[in-house]
Amino acid sequence: MAQIGKDISKAKTLLEQGQLVGIPTETVYGLAGNALDPDAVALIFATKNRPDFDPLILHTSAMDRVFDFVKEIPKPLDLLAAKFWPGPLTLLLPKKEVVPDLVTSGLDTVAVRVPSHPLTNKLLSELDFPLAAPSANPFGYISPTKASHVNDQLGEKIGYILDGGDCEVGLESTIVGIEDGEITVYRLGGLDIKAIKDVVGEVKVMTHSSSNPKSPGMLKSHYSPTKPFILGKLDDLISEYSSRGVPFAVLSFCKSFPFLEQSIQIQLSKGGDMNEAAKNLFAAMRALDTMDVSVILSELLPEEGLGRAINDRLRRAAVQ
Ligand code: AMP
Ligand code: MG
Repeated sequence: MAQIGKDISKAKTLLEQGQLVGIPTETVYGLAGNALDPDAVALIFATKNRPDFDPLILHTSAMDRVFDFVKEIPKPLDLLAAKFWPGPLTLLLPKKEVVPDLVTSGLDTVAVRVPSHPLTNKLLSELDFPLAAPSANPFGYISPTKASHVNDQLGEKIGYILDGGDCEVGLESTIVGIEDGEITVYRLGGLDIKAIKDVVGEVKVMTHSSSNPKSPGMLKSHYSPTKPFILGKLDDLISEYSSRGVPFAVLSFCKSFPFLEQSIQIQLSKGGDMNEAAKNLFAAMRALDTMDVSVILSELLPEEGLGRAINDRLRRAAVQ
């Protein structure tokens, strides 16, 4: 198992040696390595068992440092960077030579973000290279939102996990780029699209072209528990699975089911708060996945605000 702690200088030393470290961000925990060192980047792909057509996001401590590895921040993406960094926004930007092709899967844009978690931001400000950091989970499984999640799955493979507590946002970053002159959202995430529209006007949402190499990682099946994950109307699903005698657990937005055992049901937010639901989503999916049941029954949330990003994760989890 990996050592878990808050020692930034230990994390820094390991990263400078080309090793990988689990890092907290406000979105999810990342599996970080030196983004400019092809060996460290290769180790990230191998450790996660991630296919090399799925490019990585570069993390740095401040907007001005982005120019070390991107040619420019085209307008009006610069407005988004100025407004939402540090924060759960990733921009696709034209890369400089210094970024290894492995990071971008050969694309000429690189995904970049300035995370807001204080521990990781401090670590990044002390390093003289950016960190490549995909979510710290085996490829395709549920993203980690606690240090213990990282340890459970990758603890045997990495030396150190920087413990920053529970992730505040709990969903991956929203990914935005420009395609044919249009602002395009490639992944719904922790930054609500409405906030983006308030700054740049209308945007195109293109999160479902799973085969398009310009939006790799937008695979239909992702964020998946190992158990079958069924979406629908919970009342109907519960009566169907009860009558069939199939043991199940229930993930709901806010509703509880008094006639079921408490131990097999989780509400994402009892008060119906979307931010709280996002924060709890992945930990809840993990908890349900370890219960002694055969299937997980769940429902979609209202398609508004972060509900869209949450529903995106729920739908991908439900693809077998
Ligand atoms: P993860 O690090 O697991 O949150 O996934 C990062 C995601 O960012 C990838 O799966 C891609 O969908 C997206 N991404 C990263 N770099 C690029 C790029 N240059 N062009 C398009 N999408 C990218
Ligand atoms: Mg991921």
